[in-house]
Amino acid sequence: MKRAYNFNAGPSALPLEVLLKAQEELVNFQDTGMSVMELSHRSKDYEAVHNEAQSLLKQLLQIPDNYEVLFIQGGASLQFSMIPMNFLAEGQVGNYVLTGSWSEKAIKEAKILGRATSIAASAKETNYDRIPKLSELNVAPEDGYLHITSNNTIFGTQWKEFPTVKDNMLIADMSSDILSKPLPINNFAMIYAGAQKNLGPSGITVVIIRKDLLERSHDQVPSVLRYDTFSKNNSLYNTPPTFAIYMLRNVLQWVTDQGGVEAIAKLNEDKAALIYNAIDESNGFYKGHAQNDSRSLMNITFNLSSDELSKKFLQEAKDAGFVGLNGHRSVGGCRASTYNAVPFEACEALRNFMIKFQKSNA
Ligand code: PMP
Repeated sequence: MKRAYNFNAGPSALPLEVLLKAQEELVNFQDTGMSVMELSHRSKDYEAVHNEAQSLLKQLLQIPDNYEVLFIQGGASLQFSMIPMNFLAEGQVGNYVLTGSWSEKAIKEAKILGRATSIAASAKETNYDRIPKLSELNVAPEDGYLHITSNNTIFGTQWKEFPTVKDNMLIADMSSDILSKPLPINNFAMIYAGAQKNLGPSGITVVIIRKDLLERSHDQVPSVLRYDTFSKNNSLYNTPPTFAIYMLRNVLQWVTDQGGVEAIAKLNEDKAALIYNAIDESNGFYKGHAQNDSRSLMNITFNLSSDELSKKFLQEAKDAGFVGLNGHRSVGGCRASTYNAVPFEACEALRNFMIKFQKSNA
């Protein structure tokens, strides 16, 4: 079977085993005589899948009992609005670390809602090529929360250690690196992630929330935009995207079969090292965008010496079967997204292609 070398930034590669399982079960899920998509979301058969997805995530990330896993629609983007809506009382400040376009979008929504905001630190001056040092962060005890983007999908930077803030009111958008490594969950009040990179297909957003935060939602917030609505109804207040959650469950089973997040983390390091080494050993032929200590293990961003050469690289890579290597339209250049489901062999093939391209174009 021909599978592309898929380096898409999201939606992105899914494990082949997960796709084959879905194919096998597509028209007759566990002898129900129907697809999982055709089951009632109130049926026992569906609910078992839903609950297993939650419990597998809890096991994989060792989520303590004082946290809940919620499934919400609207993408990570809706969380940009739900966070200030639910957590910021009148006059309370939402504090944001700006590390790229997604953090900018997050603070923008808080402002639209008329909430007070502040910027704990920003890396905009150097075109988001780094994560600010913990010592640079301007955090006040009265902040409602501190919001970070743990991995910056577009610029290719990633937090290596996390700040500790008062009452652990740290909120992280982990859309592009959740489940790529073990996490100190206790440092966070809330973690959220659109599924379409490391967790499954698009259509579902996973929220890991500390239970005491559920009491914060204001009465003026509409029901489907309140975290406590999802919590009280086990994320079945209205119809969830059942097929996406089924796929999420299958991806979580796959991660478990791979040996869990620690084994995945080791593999992710090895995969990223192949490509970063090709950059570092190229004598400047390839130039990484991110500063070394801020490099993402999920999105590897780099440039060639001219736009023309980048174009040639991308065209020849495409002809050789590599997909999704174009940089984001806002920054240009090249980006290889090496999420959990991208096989080591695909990264090896890309490394070899980069070396070969350099030899014939240097
Ligand atoms: N945050 C990050 C870090 C992302 O990479 C993305 C999407 N690529 C988003 C938020 C927005 O996610 P969604 O499209 O699910 O709203």
